[in-house]
Amino acid sequence: LFAADRTRRPDGLSVLQSVFGLNAFRGQQGDVVEHVIGGGDAVVLFPTGAGKSLCYQIPAICRHGVGIVVSPLIALMRDQVEALKQAGVKAAALNSSLSLDEVRAVRQALRDGELDLLYVAPERFSANGFYELLAGIEIALFAIDEAHCVSQWGHDFRPEYRELVKLKEMFPEVPRIALTATADPTTRADIIERLGLEAAQTFISSFDRPNISYTIVERANARAQLLDFLKGHQGVSGIVYCLSRAKVEAVAEFLNDKGIPALPYHAGLEGRVRSANQDAFLKNDAVCLVATVAFGMGIDKPDVRYVAHMDLPSSIEAYYQETGRAGRDGQPSDAWMCYGLSDVSQRRRMISEGNAPDVVKRLENTKLNALLGVCETAGCRRQAVLAHFGEAHPGGCGNCDTCLNPVDTWDGTDAANKVMSAIYRTGQRFGAAHVIDVVMGKVTEKVEKFRHDQLPVFGVGRDIDVKTWRSVARQLTAMGLVHVNHEAHGALALDPGARAVFRGERTVTLRRDQQRKTRDTNRALA
Ligand code: ADP
Ligand code: ZN
Repeated sequence: LFAADRTRRPDGLSVLQSVFGLNAFRGQQGDVVEHVIGGGDAVVLFPTGAGKSLCYQIPAICRHGVGIVVSPLIALMRDQVEALKQAGVKAAALNSSLSLDEVRAVRQALRDGELDLLYVAPERFSANGFYELLAGIEIALFAIDEAHCVSQWGHDFRPEYRELVKLKEMFPEVPRIALTATADPTTRADIIERLGLEAAQTFISSFDRPNISYTIVERANARAQLLDFLKGHQGVSGIVYCLSRAKVEAVAEFLNDKGIPALPYHAGLEGRVRSANQDAFLKNDAVCLVATVAFGMGIDKPDVRYVAHMDLPSSIEAYYQETGRAGRDGQPSDAWMCYGLSDVSQRRRMISEGNAPDVVKRLENTKLNALLGVCETAGCRRQAVLAHFGEAHPGGCGNCDTCLNPVDTWDGTDAANKVMSAIYRTGQRFGAAHVIDVVMGKVTEKVEKFRHDQLPVFGVGRDIDVKTWRSVARQLTAMGLVHVNHEAHGALALDPGARAVFRGERTVTLRRDQQRKTRDTNRALA
């Protein structure tokens, strides 16, 4: 909109006010804008809803030339371009949804220097002639949105993002700004390396979303538990995530049967139905959208009041990202998750049967363990999640289930000693099931075959039930005292920290198994 005026460029704040109608920058937005207007490279790590878009939109308007925005989703581009046009900004998109004529028109507008912002899919950069087109025009900046897509460690790897490293060599004078809401240290370092942004200034803000309340429950009867949770959320919008398409369908049908208006969303639905359901969700204020994780990236619906997970996400990053779609307006919102052990083994199977290289598989398992640690913690969930992003939170947030209803813990030092000694005595070659059989003194075929009934540790744990032993094994894994050796068919092995427990230098506080508690309570009530 200022494209024609080659002499006077407006400053960031006046664009924020005159174009976007906002009063003041939020958090570090103003610093980023100023840095990029000045020609600097930037890596912006802000949580969802923090206002990352303005960090590149305003500099693109203020600087000469067009800002090229790389964005992974056509739906996202469409929404952004629409919103910009309404604000009077000259924005366009180049993607596979355009007709040839439309593409031609956009290219012409680019050559004529008529655009402030151009949104493109990452595939464009490997398409014929795109670099030549860019070389012929004045470019204000490159913005790489959802930059975690460049990293295999992120939760949404897009190989096409790898092409973008070329921008540095081909356009050394043009500032580049990479933005993401994913900020675990591994992904962060990988983004910087993959995009050649070592010299860029990093802007990072707290990832805490204080208005989101976290609750994680163990699965007893998932549907009944979901229904119970949704009872407290009538007449508002929310998302229920399921792992598979079949489950999406089944859960949506179940909710409708129970009188909760729900719509399914997954990649297997006919395009027309999918976008109708998405639109209904975006436009109404009381729709429950039951979806696979295919739904959500780039969806800007401010009043999502809850996000429920019927299955474990793949990592803490994914959990954070998905729950982060709740409460973008800053109003109180709920993140609720129901998980069970079968999820964990299903995940492990998906990882081991996938065709990723071993190093990636190992990392995926580590990520899953880290998420389990958050599920099984007796401490503050917010603290556990933020710790994963390298952010220290004092805990006791008062807005998560473990803070609101402190969980029952017990001194598991003795139990830990028993399990770990069984792991050690059996040669760190057996999975949890066998180790628990040994501790509980079960004479199975395997026990007889390996003569494990002769071990001193055989039968030392008859006083505790099998469910509790499983939970002990899991929690020791989440604590990093024990790990699962995936090369050895899931054999449990000891980690260095186990030694301190054996020596009596470290105690182990365990969370009491919730299912057992409910069952006991039920029994007590009966
Ligand atoms: P992100 O990409 O970080 O998730 P968005 O850029 O989509 O966040 O912005 C989230 C919401 O916050 C949008 O509705 C946007 O208009 C609003 N917003 C961003 N910056 C400001 C600001 N400085 N003042 C008021 N609202 C803002
Ligand atoms: Zn808390």
